[in-house]
Amino acid sequence: MATLVKCCQHLPPLLSPNSAFFLPSIGCRPWRLTRTQYAKKPIMGFCKNLSTDAEKVRCGDGEIPNIGFHLFNTMSKQKEAFSPKTPGKVGMYVCGVTAYDFSHIGHARVYVSFDVLYRYLQHLKYEVNYVRNFTDVDDKIITRANELREDPLSLSKRFCEEFHVDMAHLQCLPPTVEPRVSDHMSQIIDMIKQILDNGCAYTVDGDVYFCIDKFPNYGRLSGRKVEDNRAGERVAVDSRKANPADFALWKSAKPGEPYWESPWGPGRPGWHIECSAMSAAYLGHSFDIHGGGMDLVFPHHENEIAQSCAACTESNIGYWIHNGFVTVDSEKMSKSLGNFFTIREVIDWYHPLALRLFLMGTHYRSPINYSTAQLESSSDRLFYIYQV
Ligand SMILES: [Zn+2]
Repeated sequence: MATLVKCCQHLPPLLSPNSAFFLPSIGCRPWRLTRTQYAKKPIMGFCKNLSTDAEKVRCGDGEIPNIGFHLFNTMSKQKEAFSPKTPGKVGMYVCGVTAYDFSHIGHARVYVSFDVLYRYLQHLKYEVNYVRNFTDVDDKIITRANELREDPLSLSKRFCEEFHVDMAHLQCLPPTVEPRVSDHMSQIIDMIKQILDNGCAYTVDGDVYFCIDKFPNYGRLSGRKVEDNRAGERVAVDSRKANPADFALWKSAKPGEPYWESPWGPGRPGWHIECSAMSAAYLGHSFDIHGGGMDLVFPHHENEIAQSCAACTESNIGYWIHNGFVTVDSEKMSKSLGNFFTIREVIDWYHPLALRLFLMGTHYRSPINYSTAQLESSSDRLFYIYQV
């Protein structure tokens, strides 16, 4: 995935004065670059709209070469030659953010990584259908909304918009479609019905649980065994479950929570089912690339596979792609350690492209260590790239 466009001199300019991505001077840090200087020189992989401009842009005097490339597939644990299910077309689903707060630099890493892949696929002339969802119905959203005395959906809508601002700063191209959970309840309910009809789920008091014992391949993506599952370690085991590792497809409504009507009573979906339902809605049951941060391998993507296969036996993903973690001063980034940085905080100090350059400077599957020294270095490198 890290293979970048080789013919940067042919790419359209990075920024033009009319570009929606153009950032006026942000002041604070050593941003001595002028608007003219920014417009002068493109950086590989940063062009604004390759899909349109690539029509006019050719490498040298010929066609874009038919370059083969490999992707590391988390499922097979090895690099595989990329070959889409339909020649010339790629379906790609990347798990989006849960919109309840500003996005942090871990999110920036995910979406910059997949933006590079998206741009590269387009450079290779693939027609890419890139789907990235927003989780706008979730426990964290409800908790935060209650704290702020705000409607949960309006809170998540607000942070979806803030996320778009961050992505524009980082020059990540918009996906083809950005589905939200609240707009796809009927597809989610239909998929849960299908899983129940196929005998892979059960209902308890208005909740619906997926029965992992009905899916023998459970654990294949993550390499975990069912007995390794740590259900109950951090949260009390629900004695109503057939297996402690069974997970919720539908949660019955609790007082004060937003809910939707369903055949099992009012409630809302569990987290994992949304991606199975929305990816199937936009890309079909079988598509090429499903990706996200490495922290999603288990349980999120493992559960997605189980649900999707239980709903439709033809469900099949060509390549499972995951990017590595971000650490801060070599420690895990977390709010409790006080070393947690939002994208907005970082770009108050450094130009957004310095953050992007920093994130692209390490192989996407390796851990990346955020530190002031690293950002200073990226900042300086960016400055020199833009000279003359
Ligand atoms: Zn997902």
